[in-house]
Amino acid sequence: MLAGRNYRCHCGQPVFFRNSKCLACGTPLGYDCERGLLLPLMPGPREGTWQEWQAAGAPAAAPPDDVRPPSLHNIPGQESGPGVAPAASAEGAGPAPAQPAESGEPLYKRCLNLSTPASCNWLVPVEDAADMCRACRLNRTIPDLTDPALPDNGYLWGLVELAKRRLVSALILLGLPVASRISEDPERGLMFDFLRSPVNGPHIMTGHNTGLITLNVDEADDAKREAVRKAMREPYRTLLGHFRHEVGHYYWDRLIAGSSWMDGFHELFGDETLDYAASLQRNYDEGPPADWPLHYVSAYASTHPWEDWAECWAHYLHMRDAIDTALSFGLSVDHFDLEFIPFTIDALYQPEHPDAEQFLTFLNHWTRLTTMLNEMSRSMGLPDFYPFILPTEAVAKLHFIHLVVSSRSWLQEEEEATGQAEKAEKAEEVANAGEPADAAPAQQSQGQRQNP
Ligand SMILES: [Zn+2]
Ligand SMILES: [Zn+2]
Ligand SMILES: [Zn+2]
Repeated sequence: MLAGRNYRCHCGQPVFFRNSKCLACGTPLGYDCERGLLLPLMPGPREGTWQEWQAAGAPAAAPPDDVRPPSLHNIPGQESGPGVAPAASAEGAGPAPAQPAESGEPLYKRCLNLSTPASCNWLVPVEDAADMCRACRLNRTIPDLTDPALPDNGYLWGLVELAKRRLVSALILLGLPVASRISEDPERGLMFDFLRSPVNGPHIMTGHNTGLITLNVDEADDAKREAVRKAMREPYRTLLGHFRHEVGHYYWDRLIAGSSWMDGFHELFGDETLDYAASLQRNYDEGPPADWPLHYVSAYASTHPWEDWAECWAHYLHMRDAIDTALSFGLSVDHFDLEFIPFTIDALYQPEHPDAEQFLTFLNHWTRLTTMLNEMSRSMGLPDFYPFILPTEAVAKLHFIHLVVSSRSWLQEEEEATGQAEKAEKAEEVANAGEPADAAPAQQSQGQRQNP
């Protein structure tokens, strides 16, 4: 479980990830992306600052570091649930008055994009020099909000940002590196261009290139996206799906390329040095191989090992987020009356891994949940909730991705890179001082790592 999606206002009303205000009591809400919590807010001690809402006389919340560091094992629902949050009384007397601001509470400012069509409800620590949140500061280009010829730019951009926040929140809670290529890590960071195809072309292609994810804003237009989905014979096409797929390419560059994971990648996904352009062309001309459902999560995954990786990565994020949501609302598949042949441990990439059983449980939980939700969708006349069938080969690939994500192997590499940079710097200093360059010892320190 990451952090759950089950949030509650101090008045007791359920509130949701996208909300910037409680619809029942009007209390402003803000999302703390490090803690994975949607917080009811009250004004802080200084103008423009905010802090978590506290009832008068209620004990102050523990500092965030003590409560839930950003780890994979947070279960915020336990601490912010109805038993703990001061709820409105049964007589409807309304919430208790807010307690005056106290020192020691985490103080926030609101993201600059709250008042734009992005309607960003994320919080920024008050000591942070940035005026935008961790999701919004990843944007390099946004649609022109003043173009009279494209009055829907703001509306479409709002939809794009909502999907992007859903993506970024999970990346942060998974402990993945999420630094802005613009303002935080120009070498290895991530950034976004949200572009619209000009009337007379050229057509904007959604894709990833060296840390830059480009999204065609037309993908936020339901009618246009659905037309493309149909033409491409895809079972599933969403903004969030695009983001999860494209960010998979980014993390391949970041976590797999040149790393000790390469052997495992080749074993499962194949040889990525295959001509990429020719592979795409062949897929376009001939379509996927007839037996693709035996090997891949989607037809598109059969195009090239990089696309297989990105499709599996997207699925992994779908599964983590959706299971997280289900668990945080107390939805358990244990009581489902469902005939189901579960995957067995030998389907995994490393069945001997100490956490293999846990991952297998997660996977079978997912399969049961989606089988039931597909049936729910059909009972409403809607397309399937999860229009995919996981073949056993894809299960091994998903387990591999899980091991990569949970190992945090890139932290070690970053520290080594930092150590190398320091060594080079010191060598230069020493050389300038007339000493032999190799006299400088390699130093590395966790505290000096720039980009967690
Ligand atoms: Zn409320
Ligand atoms: Zn923001
Ligand atoms: Zn791709």
